[in-house]
Amino acid sequence: MTGQEPMMRVDGLEAGYGEVTVLWGVDMEIERGAVTAILGPNGAGKTTLMRCISGLSRPKKGRITFDGADVTTLSPHHRVKLGIVLVPEGRRLFPDMTVHENLLMGAHSSAEARAKMYENLEMVYNLFPVLKARRRQLAGTMSGGEQQMLAIARGLMARPKLLLLDEPSAGLAPKIVLQIFDLVKLLNKEYGITIALTEQHVENALRMADAAYVMENGRVTLSGSGKELLSNPKVKESYLGL
Ligand code: ATP
Repeated sequence: MTGQEPMMRVDGLEAGYGEVTVLWGVDMEIERGAVTAILGPNGAGKTTLMRCISGLSRPKKGRITFDGADVTTLSPHHRVKLGIVLVPEGRRLFPDMTVHENLLMGAHSSAEARAKMYENLEMVYNLFPVLKARRRQLAGTMSGGEQQMLAIARGLMARPKLLLLDEPSAGLAPKIVLQIFDLVKLLNKEYGITIALTEQHVENALRMADAAYVMENGRVTLSGSGKELLSNPKVKESYLGL
């Protein structure tokens, strides 16, 4: 680890839906410039954590700080302005709008993103030539992999400092999953974007991640570097089938 203050810190987070608590005191640090993987079985609470970090769910207890400031109760819109951008599970594109229109929607998060809309569009179209070629196509008619690329590209239009990817490879063919992982590496290494992602592809995620957390039943049960967790006996047995 770098020794500097983490970009984001989650302390004692408790959250849920109505009376039901699904996160029970989650502590997590997301290092600046790193890729952090959040792993665990279905229902572990990964999406709920992503929702709390991005402001879509309000925690019952605990604290979330970003760049040293308490953002626990800030609106999602305000967090996007600060650079915390979520690409949600299931992509949530506008299926009846074109690729281009979906990308423009991503630029309306802040005055800065709006001012740099055309610069960002050029960056995004360079990064995803397939989206440029299909910019007039309706988003809902594209393949699952292309839709995931578009969802990430729309997130990039908001100029994220911390990009949160909730299950970006869900439901995609193995070849496309590898493309998504390559893209995550590229965005991190070449564009300097800090990334936190939830993943079901545990081995791939651990190979790529600088740091990783395993969640079970709303709690963090293991954490360490990607390399450490790859050789952890419990991870090997429960998640890698070894
Ligand atoms: P998955 O990979 O299946 O999305 P997850 O680790 O992301 O799993 P969450 O989606 O955060 O887990 O779900 C954690 C728990 O919260 C589960 O028991 C789930 O049933 C419950 N839950 C999720 N969304 C809601 C909701 N809108 N209302 C009530 N309970 C919910």
